Amino acid sequence: MITAVEYHRSPMRYLAARGASARVSGAIGNSMSGSLAPLRLVNRADPRRPGPQWARVRPLLSGICGSDLALLTGRSSPYLSPVVSMPFVPGHEIVGRLLDDVDGLSSGQRVVLDPVLSCATRDVDMCAGCAAAHEDRCDHVTGGVVSAGLQTGFCGDTGGGWGGMVVAHTRQLHGVPEGVTNERAVLVEPLACAVHTVRRAAVPDGASVVIVGAGTVGLLTLLALREFASPGQVYVIAKHRHQAERARKLGATDVIEPRKAARVLRRATGGSLQTPERGAEFLLGGVDVAMECTGGSGLDSALRLVRAGGTVVLSGMPSSSVDLTPVWYRELSVIGSYASDSGGGAGDRQGDFADALDLIAHAPLDGYVDAVYPLSQWREAVGHALAAGRLGSVKVAFDPARD
Ligand SMILES: [Zn+2]
Ligand SMILES: [Zn+2]
Repeated sequence: MITAVEYHRSPMRYLAARGASARVSGAIGNSMSGSLAPLRLVNRADPRRPGPQWARVRPLLSGICGSDLALLTGRSSPYLSPVVSMPFVPGHEIVGRLLDDVDGLSSGQRVVLDPVLSCATRDVDMCAGCAAAHEDRCDHVTGGVVSAGLQTGFCGDTGGGWGGMVVAHTRQLHGVPEGVTNERAVLVEPLACAVHTVRRAAVPDGASVVIVGAGTVGLLTLLALREFASPGQVYVIAKHRHQAERARKLGATDVIEPRKAARVLRRATGGSLQTPERGAEFLLGGVDVAMECTGGSGLDSALRLVRAGGTVVLSGMPSSSVDLTPVWYRELSVIGSYASDSGGGAGDRQGDFADALDLIAHAPLDGYVDAVYPLSQWREAVGHALAAGRLGSVKVAFDPARD
């Protein structure tokens, strides 16, 4: 048996069934402290290895991602409900210790997990996405040897990082070099997503970029942008002072407060500022590329700050509706970026994950994981993660072995 934090019901569905939909947002906002919480601490059976290519992993640290928070607070889209299987143990940002020998990796070794549960892990015929090394586009995430789940941490069969054990296919596992601390290794998964975002964006050399949001996703996207592209000016919109300091350290040209973004970027890019009857200001003119890294209202800003013919990349999981008029009027290209794949990169071990693992060893990321909780304090951990920016934190994580 293992102890785990389990996601056992959809807050949206639960509230709808209780006829509480009129007060949904307020109720869900307070749900972590009350009986509405979609999480509970349980004892579960050890996850079963679905085949010989799978190994058991004991998580050492597991991060709390913005997509987890969106799910827990009922802000994520019901669109994703068919590609998860409940009850599941969340946690897809994992550094752990291997409990079995598998394919060149030995029991006892530290590993990080690429959470995408693609055709190769499910032991099914390759879909077109997987065949083209775009495992993150897999069409078969509901079939094969484990239950539906786009990733580890959303699948009822594999376990997740917020529990005492997870099973992973050898294709998901990457060994962690000796010198890399657990606090760094737990950032490899979100960094791989950031590397993927930069590849998806295909930023032309010298192009101006605005990164909207300076939480984990925004900061790691900035790091990946400086490493894997050659942009011109890179502006970062940050709410909090510690985020601004970190962004400067990672090479931001300028860091801007959200409410000043349109005015500062108008001056910087030479456009003109327009004020609609309702809604936020926008630019005629603007930056070449905007990267949405808030998973929320940042998308509206991104669409309003980019120049005609420019590109907006969605890195954060979208969790709010948005006025798409600028996409039409300004002929914008909108590019989605989900998880990571093995198609990009150079060298022997190709792919976003391998590149993130190389980069994590020397990047200036000390202090990014400064709040670690035992599973029993999941309410405090989730509360801390929801307020991370304000509290001066970047990444909040669980240590499932701690009491
Ligand atoms: Zn994530
Ligand atoms: Zn596939």
